Amino acid sequence: MVKYFDTHAHYFDKKFEEFSLDGEAVGADALLDSELMHETVSGIINVGTNIESSRAAIDQAAGRDFMYAAVGIHPEDAQNLSLDAGVELERLEALISSPEALDKHKIVAIGEIGFDYYWQPVDKAKQAEFFEGQLALAQKYSLPVIVHDREAHGDSLATVSKFPDVKGVFHAYSGSIETARELIRRGWYIGLGGAVTFKNAERLRAVAAALPLDRILLETDCPYMSPVPHRGKVNHSALLPDVANVLSRLHGIDCTELARITEENAHRLFDRIAVPER
Ligand SMILES: [Zn+2]
Repeated sequence: MVKYFDTHAHYFDKKFEEFSLDGEAVGADALLDSELMHETVSGIINVGTNIESSRAAIDQAAGRDFMYAAVGIHPEDAQNLSLDAGVELERLEALISSPEALDKHKIVAIGEIGFDYYWQPVDKAKQAEFFEGQLALAQKYSLPVIVHDREAHGDSLATVSKFPDVKGVFHAYSGSIETARELIRRGWYIGLGGAVTFKNAERLRAVAAALPLDRILLETDCPYMSPVPHRGKVNHSALLPDVANVLSRLHGIDCTELARITEENAHRLFDRIAVPER
C-alpha cells in the first residue's frame, strides 16, 4: 500500500470531535490510531494556529511515532484575538525552548505564520509584527517555517526575503508560477493539497505541473480543503491518495514514485524528523 506524508494538518480542530468512521463517531484520536491511517500515511505534521492549539498539537503528536508538531500564531489569530505581539512571541519562544521541545523530533517547524488579507478588516501592521517576529524565532532556533499566504503574495515574498537564512514551505500554494520559482530559487518548498483536485483549479494545476518534483510537499490542511470527491466532508490524511492521483498524473509518474519523492522532500525540509528505519 502506498503511504503519503501529510505536511499540514490540524487534528486538534473541533470538527474532528464528531468525526465518524464507517458510520461510527470516533473522534481524532481513534482516527489517528485507525488501521486506515496506518495503511495510508507515513507521517503527519500537526500545525498549531495559536499558543493553545500549538500545545494541543504537541500533545497529540507526543504519543505517536509518525506524528510531529509545528508551533506558531496564524495571521487571523494574530489580529483577531487582541493579543499583544511581545507577550505572545515570548510565550511561543517558551514553548520552542521548553522541556517538551527538547525532544527535538517532535517540534519540527514554526507555523503556521504569515499574512491573510482575505478576511476584512485587515490589520497589516499587526500581522507583519507577528510574521516577522516568528521568522526571527525561526532564525534563532534554526527551524523551518510553514507560511500561510492568502491574497498577500507580494508582501509574503518580500517578508520572507528579509530572512534569507530561514527556509520553509508556502502551504496551500495559490500564487503564480513566477513567485513559486522565486521561492524555489531561495530554497523554499511549495505545499499542495485538496485544491489541485477542484473543478475550477486549472490555473493551480498548471502551476503544479510546472513545479520541480523535488520541491513539492503534500498536505491536507485537514479538517478543511477536502479533495474531490469528498467535498463538504471532514478532510483527513487518509484522503491524500485523491490529491496524489491528480499530481502524479500531472507529472507523468505513478503514485508510489510521487509518495517517495514528496516524503523525501518533507524529511529534507523538516530535518528534525527522525529518519525512518526501512
Ligand atoms: Zn492550516
